[in-house]
Amino acid sequence: MSLEELRKQIKEELGIDDINSGVFAGEWIKEPKGKKIRINSPIDGKYIATALGGSREDYERVVHQMEEAYKLWVNYTPPQRGELIRLIGNELRANKKKLGKIVSLETGKTVVEGEGEIQEMIDIADFAVGLSRQLYGYTMASERYQHRMYEQYHPLGVIGVITSFNFPSSVWSWNSFIAAVVGDVVIWKPSSKAPLTAISVMKIITETIKKHGYPQIFSLIVGGGGEIGDLLTNDARVKLISFTGSVESGRRVSEAVSRRFGKVILELGGNNAAIVTAKADLNIALKGVTFGALATSGQRCTTTRRLIVEDKIYDQFVSRLIATYEKVKIGNPLEEGVLVGPLIDEEAVKNFERALEDAKKQGGKILFGGERLKIDGYETGFYVKPAIVEMPSITPITCQETFAPILYVFKFHTLEEAIRIHNSVPQGLSSAIFTTDLREEEMFLSAMGSDCGLANVNTATAGAEIGGAFGGEKDTGGGRESGSDAWKNYCRRQTVTINWGNDIPLAQGVRFEVK
Ligand code: NAD
Repeated sequence: MSLEELRKQIKEELGIDDINSGVFAGEWIKEPKGKKIRINSPIDGKYIATALGGSREDYERVVHQMEEAYKLWVNYTPPQRGELIRLIGNELRANKKKLGKIVSLETGKTVVEGEGEIQEMIDIADFAVGLSRQLYGYTMASERYQHRMYEQYHPLGVIGVITSFNFPSSVWSWNSFIAAVVGDVVIWKPSSKAPLTAISVMKIITETIKKHGYPQIFSLIVGGGGEIGDLLTNDARVKLISFTGSVESGRRVSEAVSRRFGKVILELGGNNAAIVTAKADLNIALKGVTFGALATSGQRCTTTRRLIVEDKIYDQFVSRLIATYEKVKIGNPLEEGVLVGPLIDEEAVKNFERALEDAKKQGGKILFGGERLKIDGYETGFYVKPAIVEMPSITPITCQETFAPILYVFKFHTLEEAIRIHNSVPQGLSSAIFTTDLREEEMFLSAMGSDCGLANVNTATAGAEIGGAFGGEKDTGGGRESGSDAWKNYCRRQTVTINWGNDIPLAQGVRFEVK
């Protein structure tokens, strides 16, 4: 099937028109008055469809509808809320293949990664259903006679989720399904580079909500970061902003939300490294590094961007890595066997080229790739040949996240030196060590080891599961979302003290008697 035919098929299957409303506020707003966003596929650079963004007026309508929905939603019990998420999860299951295709067409992900994106939504839906029956808190022993103390968690109300292009729907669900079971209602502002996935997902979800008679707790407003994003981050009615994007944008968001004492979850850029020691199982290390560096064409927040290899095995390991890169099929991500698709747009290709120029000026030697590629039949797509660059030391360019497949390689002699190189960048998202030595592994996991939010042993920096709390330290922003106890971030916490006695004793033995 040609890409043109597939484009047509996807649009029919998902009800994508040539011009699509990008605003849902209890119902689809027919002609929102914001920016018109033309979406081209990075696979061939050609037009897919247009999304109509929201204006300030449309935004007001969204917030108003959310406030009304919250008044209803707050009265549902958590397991009742979980039931809705279960129904939504089932619809996503039924539509996984169709939705996966739009993810691939719009962002250039391979078919398995496109479907994986939707699978992640299904997984977090399942997690949220279970969670809806176990929202626990602590009880504490009171120092006062016949008193009881405990903690409870209440919903925040209206929250905003701003997402990046590279996970165009799963990141929204990590936040929104968890937030929904604790009782929040959610405004979604997707990336302007991937609004069609958001619109398609929202069509399916809001139809499910309507069919089963629940309040419309999820809304959507497509628009630019500087416009709709700005309205959201400065709006005190929106109690929490969960932001996923670059460090640069995240800093602005963080400042705006903090100014109004709102809550913020920041999931920002990474600059992740894998350490490979001489005691590693090199076959596993090779697979882990290749996947970490090349999946999603190096456009994951958790992409392996730096490889730190022990001197004893350096030449052998790097040669094997180059030989593996040579075999990786690059091209139309919808074709069988292709592992590396295009970058998202022309700007991303330019950033790739600029970073490599800088790396060379800073002493780097390109060992593999680094060129722009013209793929037969897809000459107008945004393809590059992934690069492996040997670096003499950490330099300014290796401290930056270039959202493209560039792997900087460093040599180390002692594990202490490897960890120093590992930790010497501003970001702190994901990390990995490949070793079969218990001491090396424990050193890496100790407080003196990896300074990242995610630490992996004998597995890649990329490819996290939803069950753990996801997020990173330092410039990555410190946020946590998805599994574990990340649900608490979507709540306000209340410490409750109950006196069920006949007197009113005071804490710390304080006496306050009016005579
Ligand atoms: P981006 O920062 O350009 O945009 C992300 C989102 O923020 C978009 O929806 C954009 O419209 C919005 N935005 C931009 N400026 C804003 C502002 N001032 N106020 C409000 N909203 C604003 O990022 P991108 O290119 O879409 O995505 C790639 C980046 O996202 C990378 O840095 C990547 O590492 C990061 N990312 C991080 C995680 C994580 O969990 N840590 C996950 C995915 C992506």
